[in-house]
Formats: sequence, C-alpha cells, structure tokens
Amino acid sequence: MSETTRYDVVVIGGGPAGSTLAGLLAKRGRSVLVLERESFPRYHIGESLVTGMIPVMEELGVVDELEARFQRKTGINLVWGKDPQPWRTDFSATGGVYDHSWHVKRDEFDQMLLDNARKLGATVLEQAHVNDIVQDADGTVTGVVYTHGGTKKRASAAYTVDASGQNRVVTRKLTEVTFQEDLRNVAVWTYFKRFTPLEAPDDILVEAIDGGGWMWGIPLSETELSLGYVLPASQLAEAAAQGRSRTDVFLEGLAGSRIARTMVDPSDAGEMRTARDWSHVSERFYGRGWVAVGDAACFIDPLFSSGVWLGTSGAWMASRALDAVLDEPGAEDQALGRFNDTYQQLYSDILAYVRFFMDPNRLREEYMERAQGVGRMYVENSRVGFISLISGIKALPELVSFDPMGVEGIQEAMQDRAARTEAAKAAAAAPVG
Ligand SMILES: Cc1cc2nc3c(=O)[nH]c(=O)nc-3n(C[C@H](O)[C@H](O)[C@H](O)COP(=O)(O)OP(=O)(O)OC[C@H]3O[C@@H](n4cnc5c(N)ncnc54)[C@H](O)[C@@H]3O)c2cc1C
Repeated sequence: MSETTRYDVVVIGGGPAGSTLAGLLAKRGRSVLVLERESFPRYHIGESLVTGMIPVMEELGVVDELEARFQRKTGINLVWGKDPQPWRTDFSATGGVYDHSWHVKRDEFDQMLLDNARKLGATVLEQAHVNDIVQDADGTVTGVVYTHGGTKKRASAAYTVDASGQNRVVTRKLTEVTFQEDLRNVAVWTYFKRFTPLEAPDDILVEAIDGGGWMWGIPLSETELSLGYVLPASQLAEAAAQGRSRTDVFLEGLAGSRIARTMVDPSDAGEMRTARDWSHVSERFYGRGWVAVGDAACFIDPLFSSGVWLGTSGAWMASRALDAVLDEPGAEDQALGRFNDTYQQLYSDILAYVRFFMDPNRLREEYMERAQGVGRMYVENSRVGFISLISGIKALPELVSFDPMGVEGIQEAMQDRAARTEAAKAAAAAPVG
C-alpha cells in the first residue's frame, strides 16, 4: 500500500451530497479529498429538483449555470385523491424569490457540482473506489483505504464523510438503519423522445395509478420525458413470478393512468430501468471521526422529489458543523449533535407527510391541512402550506440560520480553548526532563 496523505476531511462519493459538502468546506479553506468510484459524467436517477435547495446552490455559486443549462420546473401537477380533477400548485405560491427550480439530467448536474467542488479547492479523484474505513483502537474513524489506478492507497483525515449514496459505506458498518416496511417500493422507468406536454409544460406530473403505485413524468427537455412507475416491491416480485416482464408492469401502470398515458405512445418506450426505492434512515448521522449525508444517511420515496434537496441540505449543515469542530474538537457532540438532530427532523417531517399522502383516497383539503400540521405552519392558505413543505422552503429559515455551536456552545468552546491555552502555557513553562 502506498503512503498515507492527511486531509481535514475525506468524502466518500461525489454525488450531489458529497460534492456540496466538499465544495463548501474547501471554500472555507479546509483540505478536502473526494473519492468517487465512477468516472463522471455517469448516469443517475433523481432528476426533478425543488426550490428549497436554491440557497445552498447560491452559496456554491452555481445558480447561473443551473439557469443556463437546465429545464425550468415551475410546479407540480397532481392526479391524486378522491377528487378526479387534476390539480396543480406552483412554487411561486410560496411568495418568495424562488419561483422555479429545474429538471436536470443527473449526469450533467452531478458533473457540474463535482467540477465546482474542484474549482473551490477540493481534491477530487474519480475511479477511486473506497474499499474500507480505517479505525483506531477506540473505534474512531481515521480515514479510508481506496483503490485508484490499480494501487491500494490510504487517506487519513480528522473526519470521514459517508456520501456514498445507497451504498452506505460507513453507516452500513457503524450504525443501525431502519427500513420503512410500508415504503418498500421499487421504480421502473424509461425515456420517451416524443411526448405531448402538460398544459403547464414545466410541471412535474405526479399521478396515482389505479391498481396501486404512482407515476412521475419529468420533462427533461422538449425531446425527452422521463416517465417512471413506483410500486410496492411485492407487486413487481409477484409479476415476475407470473412471468410478466418489467416492461409489462410499466405498461400496465401506464394503462392505469389517466394523464400519463395521454402524453406518450407506449410503443415509443425506451430501455427499461429499475431501482430499489426503499425509504430508510440511519440511527445516527455521525460518530467518532465520521459524518453521513445524503442517501447514505437517509432516503425517502421520491413522491415529492425531495432526495437532492435533503442530501444537499444535510451537506450544508454538516459543512458548518465540521468547520466548527475542526477548530474546536471538544465541541464535537455539541456541533455534530445539532447537525444530527436538525437533519433527522427534516427527514421525519417529509417522511410523515409522504406516508399520509401515499393513501390516494383522501380529499384534497385533507392533504393540504395535514401539510400544515406536519410542517407546524400557521398560514391562512393551505395550498401555501402544502407547497412550502414539499418544496423545502418551509425548512429554509432553520437551514439558513443553522448554528452548530449555539450560544452555549460558543461559551463552552471558549472555556475549552482557554483551558487548553493555559495547559499549553503550563507545559511550555515546565522544566524539561
Ligand atoms: C426511482 C428514484 C427516483 C428519484 N427521483 C428523484 C427526484 O426526482 N428528485 C430528487 O431530488 N431525488 C430523487 N431521487 C433521490 C436521489 O436520486 C437521491 O436522493 C440523490 O441522488 C442522493 O444523492 P447522494 O449524493 O446522497 O448519492 P448519489 O447521488 O447516489 O451519489 C453517491 C456517489 O457515491 C459513489 N460511491 C458509492 N460507493 C462508493 C465507494 N465505495 N467509493 C467511492 N465512491 C462511491 C457513487 O458512485 C455515487 O456517485 C430518486 C431516487 C429514486 C430511487
């Protein structure tokens, strides 16, 4: 094994969560190494973004590029609930400056964020596969072993960040994970080059399907529609046992839709893709020497396109918490504990709402009212409460003002620093030998 290089932070995975965290820490002058096993650009699912992630993109300096390169997304078009009429809500209802987000081709979006992390000063290695973490005698994570260019290498760091997505390199090993049994889903999707746009052509379509499950329709450009069917894993397994292919299952879903099937000709369907879509959460998002962000920490069914927002929001908070702890190691539980608690709350709020919404037999007003309850909001117009919650805008004040130390933490850290300075002075004054 070749020699060890030491960094402040080593990040496993260069997806949106890893590259956001790396970019923000590098911008603060920290030495950061990102290890990404693939060579970018690489395909990834997760193509529709919400407005709540715009502020962290602003901090990264990529909003102009997002605007120039990707398709606008103005709102959500729902075919859901007892009421047969489709209904829509747009981001502008939140009343702020963030009136649209984007639908993105993830190979391009992820590459843009990873290149940006490089530009901000992070060292990024692609085709660098992390084989394992390294721990000292008391279990503290001190770095990783990885393979790059056919050679096994070691990188050590004060903190190792698990941003490895569903692979969960660190959380799989060091913390328990809860998989939500009622959200044990799979997705089957494909792309259509020809399609009839919705009346509001920049919207995402989210449609409950007769017979179970739901479909997304994401216009990536005028000539590409991403169309996916999310259904219980048991339903797909049953179909396979009966000899029905995933294409059959997808086409049955499409036939059970009211709007999606009017947008495409089923015979145009491209290659079918599938992925496990099983909501989960790690018991802890940090431990001695490690932090987890993105899908490695938690994942929620993409009903409201929350994945990239949740991952980059976690990364945003973690970057501040790690920056604080690198200066004040004694404040680890204070700073990372706050990061953990706030991030767990973001997850729980969206999960609770997705669970409620998954029942497609309620009245529209019930969905609206529950959004206010879950989001602890007191807005007169329930539609505003709904879009604020699912766009991530509701959580923004907490994210923007997230302070990993808090006032009491700062006082403790100052006392800790004073004590360490005194101890260092005393050690320097002590006679040698
Ligand atoms: C069917 C489906 C539809 C979805 N739709 C949406 C949507 O519309 N909008 C949305 O916001 N989200 C959506 N999501 C969720 C979204 O895909 C994820 O939440 C998001 O990609 C998480 O980002 P991440 O950076 O945590 O992980 P990833 O994007 O998965 O990145 C992790 C990276 O780590 C790398 N890696 C893994 N293991 C190692 C290793 N050992 N060594 C080095 N590198 C490693 C991988 O190569 C990868 O590049 C969807 C998810 C599914 C399953």
